Amino acid sequence: MNDANVQDATDDIAHIREAVRALCAGFPGEYWRELDRERAYPTRFVQALTDAGFLAALIPEEYGGSGLTMRAAAAIMEEIQASGCNGAACHAQMYIMGTVLRHGSAAQKARWLPGIARGELRLQAFGVTEPTSGTDTLSLRTTAARDGEHYVVNGQKIWTSRAEHSDLMLLLARTTPREQAAKRTEGLSVLLVDMRDAKGKGLTIRPIRTLMNHATTEVFFDDMRVPAENLIGEEGMGFRYILSGMNAERILIAAECIGDAKWFIEKASAYARERVVFGRPIGKNQGVQFPIARAYAQMRAAELMVHEAAALYEAGRDCGAEANMAKLLAADASWAAGDMCVQTFGGFGFAEDFDIERKLRETRLYQVAPISTNLILSYLAEHTLGLPRSY
Ligand SMILES: Cc1cc2nc3c(=O)[nH]c(=O)nc-3n(C[C@H](O)[C@H](O)[C@H](O)COP(=O)(O)OP(=O)(O)OC[C@H]3O[C@@H](n4cnc5c(N)ncnc54)[C@H](O)[C@@H]3O)c2cc1C
Repeated sequence: MNDANVQDATDDIAHIREAVRALCAGFPGEYWRELDRERAYPTRFVQALTDAGFLAALIPEEYGGSGLTMRAAAAIMEEIQASGCNGAACHAQMYIMGTVLRHGSAAQKARWLPGIARGELRLQAFGVTEPTSGTDTLSLRTTAARDGEHYVVNGQKIWTSRAEHSDLMLLLARTTPREQAAKRTEGLSVLLVDMRDAKGKGLTIRPIRTLMNHATTEVFFDDMRVPAENLIGEEGMGFRYILSGMNAERILIAAECIGDAKWFIEKASAYARERVVFGRPIGKNQGVQFPIARAYAQMRAAELMVHEAAALYEAGRDCGAEANMAKLLAADASWAAGDMCVQTFGGFGFAEDFDIERKLRETRLYQVAPISTNLILSYLAEHTLGLPRSY
């Protein structure tokens, strides 16, 4: 990119940020508080984002998407969170399709991507984690056995978020028994499951109530039949396909954490300027202003790493370490900013009406999902620092 193009890209992103902010202004705290109480899905918000085309940001124009860059997509997620909204209800619509885009056949792309781009088809469910295997994905037990023109799927997934609000699920299942696979990382395959066909015919979805409003579920497969034509890529190579999508997921979720941190910092700064105790604004005390300044510095440092990871991703370069570090640092920054915000507000930080406790619960997730902090540290230790693998 030459300087003029860089400026264009920056201007475009500034416009996108403004447009997202304007949309989010229609979904204030009361909207989210009510949903949070009921643990209900933000249907109206997701529809508005879909109609505005934001969730199709990363789908190329030839399939009806906006063909935007990773930096633009990250800006969308960041602004949603910085506006006090919660993009977790739909962020997956942005990146799960990447597996179909990168590894699907021409026919599969033509069949699925335009509908996903238009928002008529929701691909928001990602079935990887299982109750017994946890982070050790290669130990997963759900099987998909070939039977003529179908795969027959049996097993269970857990934490399959948004399954009740999605038409399609990207599923990772074992197609070759572990002991018969040529390599440890082979024998798993990716299937695109049309849940509209499968519900009640071998597919059962049960919601899990969680700390925050997240529409997550456990999913049971009992002889669920999936057309063999829905196999993405080559049979047995699915683990590699899932891994290749993880950098995008990490960068986008890191951007969400930056948005959360900005929201907390903005709230705390405004309150510290206005709240008068002992006859002066609390923000006049260094004991109050320093934690806010520290949270700001921590957020800005993490933001740089998010930008670096996104730039490497866009350039088609390896960004495994940067995407992981961005997620680690941004999740730490948002949690630290949330903690600081509660402290700045004192008792009011605990009151529902201020949204701080809700945002704190929402941002806590990112220390654990989609990958936990420990596993990122293990990745860096092994792959970046050349330390022995610890597990
Ligand atoms: C609300 C929510 C939504 C989610 N959405 C999805 C989804 O849509 N799709 C999906 O597939 N998954 C989803 N997940 C699952 C999520 O990715 C996992 O919870 C996460 O990867 C951690 O796996 P686990 O819960 O099985 O923890 P475990 O693997 O059981 O680990 C438990 C703890 O032990 C630590 N640990 C484990 N092994 C090691 C080790 N070798 N070294 C150091 N520490 C270790 C972990 O860091 C963790 O803190 C979601 C989870 C939640 C809570």
